[in-house]
Amino acid sequence: MTNGTSRREFLGTLAAFSLFPLEQERPELILYNGNIWTVNDKDPRAQAVAIARGRFLAVGSDADVLNLAGPSARKIDLGGKTVLPGFIDAHSHPADAGLMHLRMVDCDLRSISAIQAALRERAAKTPAGEWVLGFKYDDTKTDEGRPLTVGDLDAAVPDHPVHIQHRGGHTVYANTLGLQKAGIDEKTPDPPGGKIYHDPATGKLTGRVAESAQEFFEKAIPHNFTRDDHREGVKLISKMMAKTGITSATEAQGTPTDLRAYQDAHEAGELLYRAYCFINFHYLDEMLAAGIRTGLGDEWVRVGAIKLVCDGSISERTARLSTPYEGRPNDYGILVMTEDELYTHGRKAHLAGWQIGTHANGDVAIDTTLRVYERLQKENPRRDPRFRLEHCTVVNDDLIARIKALGAIPTPFSTYVYYHGEKMRYYGQERLNHMFALRSFLDAGIRPTQASDYPPGEFIPMMALQSEVTRTDMKGNVWGAKQKITVEEAIRVGTLNGAYASYEENLKGSIEAGKVADLVVLGRDPLKENPSTLVTIPVERTMAGGKWTFES
Ligand SMILES: [Zn+2]
Repeated sequence: MTNGTSRREFLGTLAAFSLFPLEQERPELILYNGNIWTVNDKDPRAQAVAIARGRFLAVGSDADVLNLAGPSARKIDLGGKTVLPGFIDAHSHPADAGLMHLRMVDCDLRSISAIQAALRERAAKTPAGEWVLGFKYDDTKTDEGRPLTVGDLDAAVPDHPVHIQHRGGHTVYANTLGLQKAGIDEKTPDPPGGKIYHDPATGKLTGRVAESAQEFFEKAIPHNFTRDDHREGVKLISKMMAKTGITSATEAQGTPTDLRAYQDAHEAGELLYRAYCFINFHYLDEMLAAGIRTGLGDEWVRVGAIKLVCDGSISERTARLSTPYEGRPNDYGILVMTEDELYTHGRKAHLAGWQIGTHANGDVAIDTTLRVYERLQKENPRRDPRFRLEHCTVVNDDLIARIKALGAIPTPFSTYVYYHGEKMRYYGQERLNHMFALRSFLDAGIRPTQASDYPPGEFIPMMALQSEVTRTDMKGNVWGAKQKITVEEAIRVGTLNGAYASYEENLKGSIEAGKVADLVVLGRDPLKENPSTLVTIPVERTMAGGKWTFES
């Protein structure tokens, strides 16, 4: 018998079992004595759950659920701990981030000297001449209050080429050897759409390189990731995400390679969250030729939306706005695709039954994207297209009314106010009241999600709750107080709304009989916590599909 046949037969067996009525199944596992917030309006609170074959069989009181236990059921006393549905990160880049964590130095450190120490340590283990690579460096977060220089990097690592990516993804920093290997010297002209920075006094290179000039390094640094490396990357990020209570994530800029990595990791038993894998529009034709569209897959690895991009980023101040950035009178940000291009690609995907997710941060970009969606739906109405507005950061009343009318889904950054507060001043208080606008979305009856955009943003769900509920950054500054929501609302945004955004609200997102057994056990109850300490609530255990994916 070939592998293929045995696998088909195995799947056939599973399908047959799932036809049995749930009542006839015996629980394999019962969790009881819990403080369970189900996010199910019909039954918001429970004490116990019974689980079999990765799904909730029953949710209710201790007495009712324990009564279902046969002799073989394992029982776990939750000791009164709070349980929530597993969290859904509706927009992040985990497969890519996993690869970076596998190969690169995490430079999310609070001083330049700490970054130097981390690079020095990595260089000691790296063969001479090979690159030392770093990522997640943020110039606004180091104690020295100045950016990294070529001198800092030379002092730390003189004998290896060094290349550090900024957290936002639009600038990089290199040492002298790195600049040499990339073929950059003091006379190298700026390429179109790129910049090589020089010290204004001496004309010497600072080591900083921006936008299209990053391509010098792309040619020089070998990207020899194997199929196994991609799987290892997913395995690594799986563990990191499970630790924080995440049980599902959307790969927001996925490729066929990512899709394969998810399948490989799942088959190896290493995938710890359910992946909804967007496909970058560059691959749309191949996908269409293969007859693939949104929804193909299973409850662990599923093809998501086609991804389009309309404008720039919030963290690096390139989102396209209708009024300029604070203190930069002529700077409105940038559009990266024209309305025509969005329509052409979007139409192809829409007609083939794909969900579409378009990156749109600024109000101009959101307006443009909505106009495209409205036109697609008018010309070729589809019953439930669930158009997505990735980020959907800066809104106004008109945009909100159109989002509601279209049934579109915004995925605003959940942790930016808390974690990137120092960048909020570029937008100003007035505009902040219309950014990451969860209050406005919920009041209008729209279903926004929790979304980290990791690596640019942090993916910790407890941080998302604190950021959304308090609108306060790490230093205590409040940004856009009008958009505060309640803890209960933030939990729903981070669970059931995320499931809706991937057409999976009947599969996951709440603790209900018949849904997959995805949950998180917390050290303290977020509904009783002081909102300013939500981020400190420990995640004690995470479960996906009835199995613990993390235990503290
Ligand atoms: Zn993103």
